[in-house]
Amino acid sequence: MTDTEDLKNLYRETVLEHSRNPRNFRRMDAATRTATGHNPLCGDKVTVYLKLNGDRVQDIAFEGTGCAISLASASIMSEAEKDLTLDEARQATGKVLSQFTHTAENPPDIDGEMAALGSVRLYPSRIKCATLAWKTLEAALTDEAQNVTTE
Ligand code: ZN
Repeated sequence: MTDTEDLKNLYRETVLEHSRNPRNFRRMDAATRTATGHNPLCGDKVTVYLKLNGDRVQDIAFEGTGCAISLASASIMSEAEKDLTLDEARQATGKVLSQFTHTAENPPDIDGEMAALGSVRLYPSRIKCATLAWKTLEAALTDEAQNVTTE
């Protein structure tokens, strides 16, 4: 098996596992920030809820409908960004977003489930499914109450 095959298998397993059992998938009535995102290319929709305590992300949840990749991406995001400060969360989000388009010569310093998710770049038509949750989170973190679209 080649490295690319390993990566594709890890990607498939991660997406499957998270989409079947999404973490933090719920409405949050006590949210202090909310952002909604839409990927018209695939029909994915996601709403991200943040509960801030000072400048710390105390809780994070999401709701959405869409393909397995969009759900898995939001699930992984909700686990990765909890308990970070706003600055840390913005940095982490930028780093994850950059890995969806990075080149082999310039890989970001990321591993684990987020690196597996980043392998979506092997399937260019699905990249927007994976970036949707992170772009929506980015809007919530910057307090631009707005609707995000990947187009
Ligand atoms: Zn999708």
